[in-house]
Amino acid sequence: MNFTIQNALIAGEDDYTTVDVQVVEGIISAIAPGLDVVGEAIEGKNKLLLPGFVNAHTHSSEMWQRGIMSMFPLELWLAELYDFAPLDIEKVYLSALGTAVETLLSGGTSVVDHLVLIPGKEFETIATAVRAYKEVGIRAFVAPLIQDESLTAGMPSGESQQTHEPYFRSTAATLEIIEEAVKQFHRPEEGISIVTAPTGIQLCTDALFEGCAELSDKYNLCRHSHLLETKAQEKLAQEKYGCTAVEHLKRIGYLDYRTSLAHCVHLTDKDIEILAATKSTVVHNPLSNLRLGSGIAPILKYRQAGVNVSFGCDGASSNDSQDLLEAIKIGSILHNVTDLDYQHWITPRQSVEMAALGGAKGLNMADKVGSLCVDKEADLVLYDLTSLSLLPRTDPIGLLVLGRPTNIVDSAWVNGKQVVKDGQVTTIDVDNLRQELFKHSEWSTKRKSKTVAEIEAHYRSVMGL
Ligand SMILES: [Zn+2]
Repeated sequence: MNFTIQNALIAGEDDYTTVDVQVVEGIISAIAPGLDVVGEAIEGKNKLLLPGFVNAHTHSSEMWQRGIMSMFPLELWLAELYDFAPLDIEKVYLSALGTAVETLLSGGTSVVDHLVLIPGKEFETIATAVRAYKEVGIRAFVAPLIQDESLTAGMPSGESQQTHEPYFRSTAATLEIIEEAVKQFHRPEEGISIVTAPTGIQLCTDALFEGCAELSDKYNLCRHSHLLETKAQEKLAQEKYGCTAVEHLKRIGYLDYRTSLAHCVHLTDKDIEILAATKSTVVHNPLSNLRLGSGIAPILKYRQAGVNVSFGCDGASSNDSQDLLEAIKIGSILHNVTDLDYQHWITPRQSVEMAALGGAKGLNMADKVGSLCVDKEADLVLYDLTSLSLLPRTDPIGLLVLGRPTNIVDSAWVNGKQVVKDGQVTTIDVDNLRQELFKHSEWSTKRKSKTVAEIEAHYRSVMGL
């Protein structure tokens, strides 16, 4: 597992230098020009070497519904999503493979899969995703998506009296599944981590959040959740707690330096101070926020307040791809329309740092990965600067972030193990994956969600539509 990348371009302070990078037993052991070759020699000439990015929020099984979901806001979109969610373990496996492959081929070496569990096959779902990620060799944070309230509880009641069906599984039983998954699969040193991940305040009780915080403390797990993705959730938090969702999560002890929160679109200035003080991370999913009409997260404000920000694709049903570079591009330039002061705008180099080091910080591993430093683990990506979409020669990082890069990942390593070579994922048979995805699906355009029909009138009335 030792190798030396020769003559690769790396970013300096505000320029580029050409260096060799030695990796010994998965760890970067030297970065300098003209090093001796240790292990395999890798040609880095005309290639850009960057630390791997983190796809810091996704839901792999949404791949099965990408491209077909109606143009709905989150609350109705979720109802449609769940009416047609795959209930087949083989599909969980294939979409986890697909998510890993698309992440790797767009610069990601880590993925956080907020994994939707098949009812009655919860543990099997987790085991299957873990198996898929191990096979691909991407660094995976499997975050089983849990809740303990039924779907209709996720909408504000407004003036009406709403009653909700109890959730089909008890809070205690759900927490037991997570603890069992931790015992069986949580092996950070082998590239698989289990993360506690209540879906969000809209569908979870305090008992579930508190139980997850306890597991996180007991096993040193990262914590994840959706947070204030929509206007409706902002209203719901006021109805439910009489304060903002952030104030409430702080009060019940869910926020800390291991906590990453997807979306964070509707936060107050006081909420932002709380995220900064608790060292929580915001995961920015710009494409999903646009697709579902959720809003534009105030990312420039977060950065000015010192809140760590990383990027996610979100599930492929609200995106509808897993191209991390696309999320980084849109998630960077989107904010230029929110602030006239161009000195606050995100530069391509800052975007790259958010995607790599920001992602690592949000997963409590900034001391191990996220930058090109001696003694860090080798989660590395080598980009081909002779690819048509990265030509002509200008500023490589500028064009990588602001351009429309296609087929540009030449090689990638996770913890020193090569997983992409000559532009191809080497650990699994991607051609076979392509055939399986084809076989397990069909072209379709007509379907009607029963649940949407039941809840749409209430949604429209409570949202004043
Ligand atoms: Zn999500």
